[in-house]
Amino acid sequence: MSKKYVYSFNEGSKDMRDLLGGKGANLAEMTRIGLPVPQGFTITTDACRDYYQQDEQISQEMISQIDTQIAQLEKEQGKKLGDNQNPLLVSIRSGAVFSMPGMMDTILNLGLTDDSLKGLALATGNAWFAYDSYRRFIQMFSDVAMDIPKDKFEAVLDRHKEENGYHADTELTLENLQAIVQEFKAIYREAIGQDFPQSPREQLYLAIEAVFKSWNNPRAIVYRNLNEIDHHLGTAVNVQSMVFGNMGDTSGTGVAFTRNPATGEHRLFGEYLINAQGEDVVAGIRTPQSIEVLKEDMPAIYRQFADLTQRLENHYRDMQDIEFTIERGKLYLLQTRSGKRTAKAAIQIVTDLAAQGLITKEEAIMRVEPKQLEQLLHPTFDENSLKQAKLLAKGLPASPGAARGKVCFSAEAATRLTKEGEDVILVRQETSAEDIEGMASAKGILTARGGMTSHAAVVARGMGKCCVAGCSDLRVNEISKTITAGDLLLKEGDPLSLDGSSGNVYLGLVDMESADISGSFETFMKWVDDVRDMGVLANADNPKDAQKAVDFGAEGIGLCRTEHMFFDEERIPAVRQMILADNVEDRQRALEKILPFQRDDFYQLFKVMDKKSVTIRLLDPPLHEFLPHDEDTLIRLAGKLELSLSDMRKRVSELAEFNPMLGHRGCRLAVTYPEILIMQVKAIAQGASLAVKEGAQVKAEIMIPLVGTAQELAYLRPIVDSAMQEECEKTKCSVDYRVGTMIEIPRACITADEIAAYADFFSFGTNDLTQLGFGYSRDDAGKFLAEYVDKGILEKDPFQVLEQKGIGRLMEIGVNLGRQTKPNLKIGICGEHGGEPSSIAFCYAIGLNYVSCSPFRVPIAKLAAAQAKIKEEGKAGFVDK
Ligand code: PEP
Ligand code: MG
Repeated sequence: MSKKYVYSFNEGSKDMRDLLGGKGANLAEMTRIGLPVPQGFTITTDACRDYYQQDEQISQEMISQIDTQIAQLEKEQGKKLGDNQNPLLVSIRSGAVFSMPGMMDTILNLGLTDDSLKGLALATGNAWFAYDSYRRFIQMFSDVAMDIPKDKFEAVLDRHKEENGYHADTELTLENLQAIVQEFKAIYREAIGQDFPQSPREQLYLAIEAVFKSWNNPRAIVYRNLNEIDHHLGTAVNVQSMVFGNMGDTSGTGVAFTRNPATGEHRLFGEYLINAQGEDVVAGIRTPQSIEVLKEDMPAIYRQFADLTQRLENHYRDMQDIEFTIERGKLYLLQTRSGKRTAKAAIQIVTDLAAQGLITKEEAIMRVEPKQLEQLLHPTFDENSLKQAKLLAKGLPASPGAARGKVCFSAEAATRLTKEGEDVILVRQETSAEDIEGMASAKGILTARGGMTSHAAVVARGMGKCCVAGCSDLRVNEISKTITAGDLLLKEGDPLSLDGSSGNVYLGLVDMESADISGSFETFMKWVDDVRDMGVLANADNPKDAQKAVDFGAEGIGLCRTEHMFFDEERIPAVRQMILADNVEDRQRALEKILPFQRDDFYQLFKVMDKKSVTIRLLDPPLHEFLPHDEDTLIRLAGKLELSLSDMRKRVSELAEFNPMLGHRGCRLAVTYPEILIMQVKAIAQGASLAVKEGAQVKAEIMIPLVGTAQELAYLRPIVDSAMQEECEKTKCSVDYRVGTMIEIPRACITADEIAAYADFFSFGTNDLTQLGFGYSRDDAGKFLAEYVDKGILEKDPFQVLEQKGIGRLMEIGVNLGRQTKPNLKIGICGEHGGEPSSIAFCYAIGLNYVSCSPFRVPIAKLAAAQAKIKEEGKAGFVDK
């Protein structure tokens, strides 16, 4: 039996999204529940995949199924394609499984030919409208299906307007439009070498093919890469009978959200244009009116619309983004989908929906993308600095947050300058899908035109990027690369600051401030905490970061890299003296100087982290990292340490290594210089005693790095224990402490059963484990990894996203072997992957007790951990991407 490639809207439902795409499935669902949807059919994603497999050919089978559906549609509508009395016109739209706004192409008014043009004029009694539709169609079809640049058509249109002194398209006369249509057809003939197709079927097949092809246009590929969408999914194509929003003042078209997509406020939010077609709103060409205006213009339609949209929201149990058209006083819904939203709105919406009883707390948790939380944790402008800042202009507050940087005028420049380490603000007349990469690299986006649902606004919100749109106070010239605001002229590279929450644009660089997290975010995070059973700790090396970690909800410190404490200006001389000592006595003397500093560091950490565990890793990096590399400092240091320069150079060269990352570092330092380890343990004991005496509850976890064989730990652990005991006796204070190890050497993973005998806990150091597992130097892999990813040799950069097959497998072996020896062994991760959602899900799956990550990522990690638990329990429900 042949495959079914085409489904009429009344054959599908929202559950058929994989096959019909998001748009097709929702059109079918709206039809199913009786909403006013112009009828049509969907060509499946499977058809698109087959198209690519069959040498980019639409098969006869597909064509015959399309023809059957067209015949059916003609019958239902009482109209015929190409008819010269009452023609059927259709729109052709892409519709992938995951929404990709503006990434692919749409063709409207398909079916218009010289013949059916007459039919349309007759049926509507409006020749002007028929010609206006025809000229729009010729342009769109030529651009989308035949790759004829649309500027050629725009130029003709502009010329006619200019010659007649018109401002708006609506001022063009019938005669103007007739002349324009002739010129448009001539452009087509010249570009293609054939007349504009006069067979609606031919138009239809070409258009469908163009949509299939648009799946692989460069901007769609970039969008999928950014959003981690599979390139093999393909797009569906929706063929829908046209309704017209441009049939006079009782017609219109718009886009609305059932809740505010920037704040989450439960109130209809949207824009519409009277007497216009859909593309005019979405493309940001004309600045639309607020949906509130519809309430005054057409009160009954507004009431019906408000009612239907609320019905849709209740039906989908989520905030909806709805496209609608009013044709001569009759309302049609053209599309509904879960609306893109800022993180702030996402949290507000899911907590409200759960409070309304529409979704469960688990569903609420599953609907927020962990990475999106980063937006909430982003900085805003410092109030005082803001008071002094010069307000340049005000636009629409399209996507919240604050950003500052140097002005640039093209996506390409934004990408390039960002790579060079600059913070940039991308300034455009209006953005289009081609700008996506530049938008992703810019700190903020500013456009002179377009509304709250314009491309810039929608895409920036999705990216969580600050955006001010429709800033008409500014004149942006992309050619001369200037912005004019009154008398002021800004050039490329000038500094600018944007407030995406107020729409304000400031001259110069305004100071930034960290984010404020409260209100519904707290409620949401409480639900996350209730569900989650994996611990979330933070990597923090000083009391300030530790406090930030606690503020963000960290349950302890999972990694304090003590070497970071050594670099302080006051301490580095003693550290260097300790390193350069060539005998134990001298080294001891230097260590005595370092001890009070370390004691104070640990004391403060224990105080901040009261009752929470503090994992302190003993010294890890190769010692020469602490030595000066420039000659001047070397000479000064030699003087200070009363060493001759030649002795000094000799000692430095003794410490130099060919391969420091594989050299004298980690626990190897402690084996050869136990006095360093002893100093650190003593400092921990003394710091802990001081904190305990002041009423703090201390949980110290001493962590030994880079263990590769159980014997290392067998040798070092007793030294730690006896130093601890000795010091505790002296201070007369018992300290709650444990001794564990990092697992970051492949050999440690596969001998973890032996290592566990000497360890109270494990913490995976996946940075080193990735380095050593792959044999990729952490410091040098940047040179080739991007190319590995581009060429598909690696799926992702393994230093950012845990590589599960190999490195993950090593971890799994380590967990299983470790727990073979100690069934309740506490195991966590403190490499960078501990803050990356997909890696966290993996850690949960292999049974880790906790993850540890940078303070800013704590809420993200908590959410990812809660989601992993919900998925495991099968309570996730359907989640739109
Ligand atoms: C690791 O290797 O994963 C780790 C946390 O330690 P560092 O990055 O300090 O080597
Ligand atoms: Mg390491």
